[in-house]
Amino acid sequence: MVPGVRLVVLGKQGAGKGTQCVRLSHHYVVPHISTGDMLRAAVKTGSALGVKVKETMDRGELLGDDIIMEMVADRLSEPDARARGFILDGCPRTTHQAEVVAALLLPGALDLTVDIEVPTAQVLRRLAGRRVCTDCGTNYSVTTPPKVNWMCDICGGEVIQRQDDTEDAIRRRLDLYERQTAPLIDWYESRQQLAKVSGTGSPDSVLRRVIRAIEERRGRGQGR
Ligand code: ADP
Repeated sequence: MVPGVRLVVLGKQGAGKGTQCVRLSHHYVVPHISTGDMLRAAVKTGSALGVKVKETMDRGELLGDDIIMEMVADRLSEPDARARGFILDGCPRTTHQAEVVAALLLPGALDLTVDIEVPTAQVLRRLAGRRVCTDCGTNYSVTTPPKVNWMCDICGGEVIQRQDDTEDAIRRRLDLYERQTAPLIDWYESRQQLAKVSGTGSPDSVLRRVIRAIEERRGRGQGR
């Protein structure tokens, strides 16, 4: 079996993070830890907390660091993540969150942070056409719909447009990304923990680039 991995994935909305993280989690046999998916699951329960979370997400704003970091710390402490690692998607999103994630891990435990780069004009096109399964989170688009009547090919769930994929919320999320999350690229680069990978082209070719970046990094680590 391939060795596990401890990976943070960055990239603006629509860069294909979710799609790549699912594939990477299968490849390395480690859990895909997506804060967006965890929050959407909380919303589905209909709890009072879920209702508040939904309001913030639908506006395209960020949840507070405390709630996010508690959720992530809990998940990272589970046996599967401790044993083989994780693909962290959607967190960190601020420098403060990056500091907390670093403190949660043992020094040197993080293999790499990958930034999936896609030009803004292209992510805007992708987001406008994105459709998502409400049950399992599989991504589709208006040009690659499920086979039958907007029912998910994988689980049969309903495939819809995300409520935060409206033009207004998309603009707000991209703006927040530039202000709050883009600085993380320098943060990880200055710690020699960053690889930039082009996110254009087919999902398979992007996956190959990400895996190559991880293996190159591991190869260099062994040579030390
Ligand atoms: P996207 O990257 O397309 O915005 P996600 O599914 O990762 O989608 O996140 C959806 C929403 O969940 C965000 O807009 C935000 O409201 C909330 N969220 C997810 N991760 C975080 C985080 N680390 N910190 C604060 N809010 C978060």
